[in-house]
Amino acid sequence: MDTGFIDHQRINTYLENTAPPQQAELDEILSHARELQGISFEEAERLLMVEDREHLAAMMETARFIKDEIYGRRLVLFAPLYVSNLCNNDCLYCAFRRSNAHIPRRTLTMDEVRKETEALVSQGHKRVLLVSGEGLGESALDYSLRAIETIYSVKQGNGEIRRININIAPLSVESFRRLKSSGIGTYQLFQETYHGDTYRVMHPSGPKSDYVNHLTAMDRAMEAGIDDVGVGVLFGLYDYRFEVMALLQHIRHLEDVFGVGCHTISVPRLEPATGSDVAANPPYPVNDSDFAKIIAILRITVPYTGMILSTRENAETRRRAFSLGISQISAGSRTNPGGYSSGEALEQFSLGDHRSLEEVIGDMVAQGYIPSFCTGCYRLGRTGQDFMDLAKPGLIKHYCLPNAITSFKEYLVNYAGKDTRRAGEALIESMIGDIPKADVQAKTRDSLQRIENGEQDLYL
Ligand code: SAM
Ligand code: SF4
Repeated sequence: MDTGFIDHQRINTYLENTAPPQQAELDEILSHARELQGISFEEAERLLMVEDREHLAAMMETARFIKDEIYGRRLVLFAPLYVSNLCNNDCLYCAFRRSNAHIPRRTLTMDEVRKETEALVSQGHKRVLLVSGEGLGESALDYSLRAIETIYSVKQGNGEIRRININIAPLSVESFRRLKSSGIGTYQLFQETYHGDTYRVMHPSGPKSDYVNHLTAMDRAMEAGIDDVGVGVLFGLYDYRFEVMALLQHIRHLEDVFGVGCHTISVPRLEPATGSDVAANPPYPVNDSDFAKIIAILRITVPYTGMILSTRENAETRRRAFSLGISQISAGSRTNPGGYSSGEALEQFSLGDHRSLEEVIGDMVAQGYIPSFCTGCYRLGRTGQDFMDLAKPGLIKHYCLPNAITSFKEYLVNYAGKDTRRAGEALIESMIGDIPKADVQAKTRDSLQRIENGEQDLYL
């Protein structure tokens, strides 16, 4: 089987023959990591071999340091918007797969897309991830373009969706060009497993069964000018160490060809899904401790790449993951088409976190995390390489922290209950001092007052 630029042999040989690093080597890698410029992929591979408890603890500590230095206590929030659960693929782990007769099928009309968007906007969301099965054939792209236009057109009170990221089946370069011109943020697609043989078993039929076509989707997206792409692995299908090494090879390939790697990495773990034996009994379950290790290694290796944790994890796992490196989370989510406005239950997989956006925010604030609804970079064209150039230590604080503060203030003024508002205002007050430059601090205070007086959407 052709597995493109993923060098299976090298990874297998490495995993079979390599011992964990000794203390001195580990110390050297972790001290390199603390310079906040990332580490080489070879160094990351060494970290993957670490098993010793104390060594793992040192690695976690380094990841926490990096997360704190670069991102501070800021987390970007989004909601997935599922528009269709029709699918021509048969991914063994997914409830939407073609052969699953246990779920009713549904594709939202544009009127329903509008209603879902209104429901999200009325909760305070500003970012959505549009998600779809691969069942609409030739009309899939046109449908997605209309859905994007519909979502962006919704105005509800003081709110609207300001950034749509999209997770749909791979396209041709030409079709990706059309998608780009619709004003999407990040194009996301998960390889699920980079392991060729496992991929073949898990994807027995349909267009997604073509490993290389799936693997090279990001090349086509980038060739079409989409410079923010989001990759991911569905952990639990194969050995996580293989997956992380291959994921890094994928990123390196994009860097070599396009000069910039991926904008985000998603780290879903396999969750139970209606009618799926694989989802109920993951072949390579990733326990909480290995999951934390994966997040820590990715944070250390590519410190400026966003890391996304979705609905799938329970509140406690999410808390730990925030401190180690996650920078974006979904909140108040439904994984079924129509789930926000109708409350129907046709979920793609079981959710570990059932709390509303307001509850998630209340919990984040209690832990000292500031929720960010910022969409500034993408709207000012700071994407791809421009974003990476900007995302140097300190610089990110000049933009991201003030924008998190003002976008959160907008949430508090327009959507929050009394208690959340009080706690949120106190958190904002305690964080303004963390903005490095005095003039930016002053500007942020001015923006806060203007938002209090009814202005919206102020960002740097
Ligand atoms: N159909 C497109 C695709 O497969 O790339 C995009 C939508 S698909 C619903 C989005 C993601 O859901 C998949 O990439 C997969 O990683 C994830 N997923 C599917 N079944 C899952 C399960 N049982 N647990 C966790 N995530 C799952
Ligand atoms: Fe379809 Fe995506 Fe589910 Fe596979 S993961 S069955 S392609 S919706």
